[in-house]
Amino acid sequence: MAELSEEAVEALFGQQLAEWETARTNYAKLSRVEERKLTVNGSTIIVQYNPERLRSSAAKVDRASIEHRQCFLCKPNRPAEQQWIEWGDYEIIVNPYPIFPKHFTIPTRTHTAQRIISRFRDMMTLALLMKGYTVFYNGPECGASAPDHCHFQAGVQGFMPIEAELRHTVLAEVARDDTRATLNEVNLGGRHCYVIESTDVDAGCKLFEQLYASLPMSEGQAEPMMNVLCRAENQQCITVVIPRRKHRPACYNAEGESRMLISPASVDLGGVVIASRKEDFERITAEDIAAIFSEVCITDADVACINDKLNKKGYKTTN
Ligand SMILES: [Zn+2]
Repeated sequence: MAELSEEAVEALFGQQLAEWETARTNYAKLSRVEERKLTVNGSTIIVQYNPERLRSSAAKVDRASIEHRQCFLCKPNRPAEQQWIEWGDYEIIVNPYPIFPKHFTIPTRTHTAQRIISRFRDMMTLALLMKGYTVFYNGPECGASAPDHCHFQAGVQGFMPIEAELRHTVLAEVARDDTRATLNEVNLGGRHCYVIESTDVDAGCKLFEQLYASLPMSEGQAEPMMNVLCRAENQQCITVVIPRRKHRPACYNAEGESRMLISPASVDLGGVVIASRKEDFERITAEDIAAIFSEVCITDADVACINDKLNKKGYKTTN
């Protein structure tokens, strides 16, 4: 895989903020963004009021809507000011509607469907190259606003509370690959997560593939529903897979008072819940977020089933 210099990534960010007004304005707005801190089932959750994200949280991602819009990740449809760095099959671009103080989108160069299994190796490689960033993936029915154009995103580390929380949490090992990678399970504040800790890309990929094959999948789905967060830390690659069972919570489509436009994706499940409407930002409670997590994340029974499948397939497990 091609080289990627950290300097080039930082230079792109600086150049875009200097020369592209939309990006400059939106990153300046982000620095003044309103936030609330809540404790949800013992986990720290930040609620961020970010009206610019309405385009993403309210994105129509059904097949007909997708077919009738121009893909905003295809190069001919991108703003003229948006520059890029090429890396293998991908282009790294600055996200002009940020959640993170530095936020990149990493689309493939060709218009191809959002799928993880053949690209997880790229994701890990990218996380190892983009030190200081967390690379994340939203499944086609798990928050991706362009499910028809494969892409990752990257945001600065230390921003999503899940990272610090994981450092202080004891994980239950489910499987391992010699000494090079472990697959662990943990429930963080109502979010069941699988965590792959690896010192080797091949070993990490192998455990990801085993997990992928054990996740629940409904008929008609292109892949098991999931959000994935991947970052390099202390010579290790840490991948957090958050399996999903629902795209959007009931409150998203509710009528009247109970409607809240919360559409959870990687960042929300990483502990930064994005409210793009002021009314949602002001009234959402820890109980509401707990309810959303339990609705969109997998259940204890799902976890038992996944672990059982991993066992039955004969993967080396330790419990
Ligand atoms: Zn496209």
